[in-house]
Amino acid sequence: MPAPLRIAFLGAARTVTGSRHRITWGESSWLYDCGLYQGHRDEADAINRTFQFDPASLDGVVVSHAHLDHTGNLPTLVEQGFGGPIHITDASADLSRVMLPDSAHLMEKDVDHVNRHRNGRAVRKPLYTLADVDDTLSRFQTHRYDEPFSPFPGVTGTYHDAGHILGSAMTTFTFEQNGRSFRLLMGGDLGRAHRAILRDPAVPPGPDALVVESTYGDRVHSDDASTERQLIDAVSRTVARGGRVVVPAFAVGRTQELVAVLHRLIERGAIPDVPLYVDSPMAREATAVFKRHPECFDAETRKTFANGGAPFGFDRLRYVTTPDESRSLNDLTAPCIIISASGMCEGGRVLHHLQHALGNDHNSVLFVGFQGQGTLGRRLRDGADVVNVFGEPVRVRAEIVALDGFSAHADQRELLDWIARLDPAPRTVFIVHGEPEPAETLAGLLRERMTAKVHVPEKGQEFDLWT
Ligand SMILES: [Zn+2]
Repeated sequence: MPAPLRIAFLGAARTVTGSRHRITWGESSWLYDCGLYQGHRDEADAINRTFQFDPASLDGVVVSHAHLDHTGNLPTLVEQGFGGPIHITDASADLSRVMLPDSAHLMEKDVDHVNRHRNGRAVRKPLYTLADVDDTLSRFQTHRYDEPFSPFPGVTGTYHDAGHILGSAMTTFTFEQNGRSFRLLMGGDLGRAHRAILRDPAVPPGPDALVVESTYGDRVHSDDASTERQLIDAVSRTVARGGRVVVPAFAVGRTQELVAVLHRLIERGAIPDVPLYVDSPMAREATAVFKRHPECFDAETRKTFANGGAPFGFDRLRYVTTPDESRSLNDLTAPCIIISASGMCEGGRVLHHLQHALGNDHNSVLFVGFQGQGTLGRRLRDGADVVNVFGEPVRVRAEIVALDGFSAHADQRELLDWIARLDPAPRTVFIVHGEPEPAETLAGLLRERMTAKVHVPEKGQEFDLWT
């Protein structure tokens, strides 16, 4: 009787958040990613606290990359009794040492805020604390790309570069029994070719079964040249009006990439040489992690770096550290570019920059990343006339510009091309990490192009892989 090999989709199924997949092999079971579900506060809290299994019964976790929607619920798992190893790449481990404590800190602040307004109703507790984060970080077992490791009996894991953010990986699990083997490729978040800083996504040996994301399964990004043109135009227009450009951007990855691109454009004289502020303490720490991991860079960035150059524009940008300095940017009258987090405008310092900038038609707000449903970023990008910032209505007079060419996620064409290069072709494909429309669109195209069985799992659905 062969050992059962099963996969259960417990998060990021028909949505883009809260990645959590459980793989069961004989006596062992582990999670692939344990991400934070981000959404409405009460709903998110319930989803993040509720595991559909006993965390203590789990043998381990294998992590794809350091974005919080893939790692941000690990401390909850540990707090609820998980005691096994967490496998992760070196660079993802270093980024998590910055991002998870920050996540705990934000939760504590949010809970304080909520409790102050509860008027005697039951006091809320944070999802996890810094102590849980420390416990989580102590469970890390780090690995390099392309060096097989043995996470569980009878299984080999290999990380391949996913080209999505620093340290990001897809993972091949190879299972052996009775002289036969089965390959499962967990695609993680798939990056893109020809981006600043990072290498192109790897193409590992073709698996028997593939789990792939679909964030942009129904869309094609603008090409690089037109994205650059739009960026140049947006910045130049704003500077000519005497305004400022506010860029909500994720502190990790997007900020460094954008700074590298702006730096290059200023050097070339393509955009005016205006002050560039990065107002996010985490972005500063994340940039320090980037500098420690040149093994993740593409050849061009490695060369600049080795020659003492500044691939991330270190010498041009100004980091803003204290909250006072951050607020003092509001007093500047000359044009400038301010990059600040959070990327979807759901918190962080970008909120006060928006509150200050939105009402003036000289300014621009430039979106360079995905804006999830229900976020302030999405409302602005969709053209709202009035939005609430810090609970107060603000009329939107600033120019709103959205560039999709900076995405760290492969678009429809890039997903299809990457899947087509897997050799041999997978016999089963599971599509995750996408809202229903993009996920189903990608599934339809794959069914036309390949003979594989293509599934778009519902949350909680479990499949036998090796029957
Ligand atoms: Zn990601």
